[in-house]
Amino acid sequence: MENNILKKTEYKYLILLLITFFTTSTTLFANSFEKSKIRQAELRLYFSSKIERVTYFSIPMKNGITKYVYDIHGAILPKGKGISHHTFRTVESFKIAQNSPSKLRVIIQSKEKALDKHEFKGKMLIIPLIAGRYVVGFKDSSKKISREKRNSSSLKQYKVVIDAGHGGKDIGASCCSDKIEKKVTLSVALKLKKKLEAKGYKVYMTRDGDSFVKLPKRTEFANKKEADIFVSIHANAAPNKKQRNSFKGIEVYYLSPAKTKRAKDAAEKENAVMFEGKDFYTKNEYLSLISREKIVESHKLGLDVISKMLKNLRSHFGSIENGGVKPANFWVLVGAQMPAILVETGYITHPIEGKNLMNNYYKELLAKGIAEGIERYLKNK
Ligand SMILES: [Zn+2]
Repeated sequence: MENNILKKTEYKYLILLLITFFTTSTTLFANSFEKSKIRQAELRLYFSSKIERVTYFSIPMKNGITKYVYDIHGAILPKGKGISHHTFRTVESFKIAQNSPSKLRVIIQSKEKALDKHEFKGKMLIIPLIAGRYVVGFKDSSKKISREKRNSSSLKQYKVVIDAGHGGKDIGASCCSDKIEKKVTLSVALKLKKKLEAKGYKVYMTRDGDSFVKLPKRTEFANKKEADIFVSIHANAAPNKKQRNSFKGIEVYYLSPAKTKRAKDAAEKENAVMFEGKDFYTKNEYLSLISREKIVESHKLGLDVISKMLKNLRSHFGSIENGGVKPANFWVLVGAQMPAILVETGYITHPIEGKNLMNNYYKELLAKGIAEGIERYLKNK
């Protein structure tokens, strides 16, 4: 009797020990997800140690979309890590989550067929994001890929969403009773549409008349259209009457925390309409949504656009001030899943620039410059 009781207690103890060992071992020896990157049309996932096993299945969804599921066995997702903010033209969404204590699940939704040719080696798992593409990450075939990339990009019809700033009850900046930003932006946007269509791009407008469109709806629209580029057209204004003569120049902004005073002021002005209703993310939330990759691409696009705008305008209108390509926190760019820029076409309040912005030929050249900049960016992509 005594002996039996002792045995039972020992048994319990053993179970307790086993449970403790199991829980510590999963955290001590688990393979942690470290980071993800998109390179050469592949999603590359990096882990802290060697990947042992990956299983895969796919589920057909609505609208020709397929859900691809990859399970990485023995892997865990540390707190605060994720891949859901990547963007790639063939992919609707990326997700990564802990499916069970010992299984990490990656879900990709895409219209591409058969993204099943994934491979893993050592600490890296590679998933190709274009159908029929073999995994290149483990091989040295960069030359072949750039040729392939060029061929596919020349065949693809790129989509551009043009956003004419403001509209309807939101008139934007104004000056001298006759100059209204919402009119300037629509006029430049319509000209830009023509130029881009002439280059063979598919163009969509967030508004093509004098209507009010909420800021979040603008990028939402671009995401829905699966646009490759989002460009928002605006005109700037000096902070007060006294400074009308000193504030001038063309500026291009991309979404990123603002660095300069002027960038902060411009963002504040354009954001004003945002706070009419309870609409969107909180400030902290949205900053965490910007991926590094999108910032870099938007910056590149901005540089191409500003240089072509200046080249075109300077050829006929003399010295036009280069306000530069700057980071700022514009609400209208938040949530865009593609490279996105905001063009300030000049200061409506400046005596010369304001007059220029009323000039049809000036706006024609502005549009031509933006279109050429977009073209250059897409050709080098
Ligand atoms: Zn504006």
